[in-house]
Amino acid sequence: MYEFRFHGRGGQGGRMAAEALALAAFLEGKYAVSFPFFGAERRGAPVRAFTRIDDKKIRTKTQIYEPDAVIVLDESLLETEDVLEGLKDDGVIIINTQRKPEEIELSREVRCATVDATSIALDVLGKAITNTAILGAIAKATGEVGIDSIEKAIIEKFGARLGKEAGEKNAKAARVAYESTVVGKSKGGKQFEPKPQWLPTVDELPLGGSIGTMETYAGLVGIGSFIENKTGGWRVFMPVVNDDKCIGCKICWFYCPEAAIKMVDKGAKTKKAVINYDYCKGCGICANECPTKAISMEREVKA
Ligand code: SF4
Ligand code: SF4
Repeated sequence: MYEFRFHGRGGQGGRMAAEALALAAFLEGKYAVSFPFFGAERRGAPVRAFTRIDDKKIRTKTQIYEPDAVIVLDESLLETEDVLEGLKDDGVIIINTQRKPEEIELSREVRCATVDATSIALDVLGKAITNTAILGAIAKATGEVGIDSIEKAIIEKFGARLGKEAGEKNAKAARVAYESTVVGKSKGGKQFEPKPQWLPTVDELPLGGSIGTMETYAGLVGIGSFIENKTGGWRVFMPVVNDDKCIGCKICWFYCPEAAIKMVDKGAKTKKAVINYDYCKGCGICANECPTKAISMEREVKA
């Protein structure tokens, strides 16, 4: 299996590049999948996309954490995040930049390919859209897919969307990039400040809201809803926890969409799940997920 992770910004076409790469591999008779990572995505925000290629069926569905190749569509991302995170020791990074590999400073020294995809795109397409040019650099730097397949995939994928002429121009951009990609080694040693993260424990989260509460002009807001909106009123079946079977694994707490479960110390070896019926809407997810079947859904009798 060979895994690619694309780093770009919203609107730069990283997802389309990942899909075209998968199509190129498919045209060579391989199995391939591609998918984007949707965060709080908007134009200009850092985004990721992934492609997996293999000679056999691909069953892995996760994001790619230990890629063989990292592709950086926007050089400015090198300053803000360690794009090498998880890259295999024999992996390669491919960067859209005017600089040579030995001029690039990264967190460690790695095999590095550089290409001025922006200038190529401007010359060939008349627009700074680099997602097809970078595909040529990927073919050159990894050898995992041939440039002929990349061109065919671009014509098929981009041609279908933008028209035949535009598809052919994009394929040309990839070919020019293939021919001008320089492969070498980066510099290492760049330091990144660890980003502060708030990872609350079970006990820090308030009932009925995993992000605390906030006063707004419309009232108190909690977990994507109003605290005053007591979703317990929607319930037809109610989850009932059997403390003897509850092993305190917190799976129900994790899955509950209303954050209506709290882990409470009842003097046993582990904490026990306790339902807040003001917010529990009776969806039954907790009962489905509980590995010990400690939660049963019982018909609610309204007083
Ligand atoms: S999933 Fe089941 S066993 Fe785990 S904490 Fe919840 S009720 Fe207990
Ligand atoms: S039934 Fe649904 S809303 Fe109620 S505690 Fe279980 S997962 Fe949460």
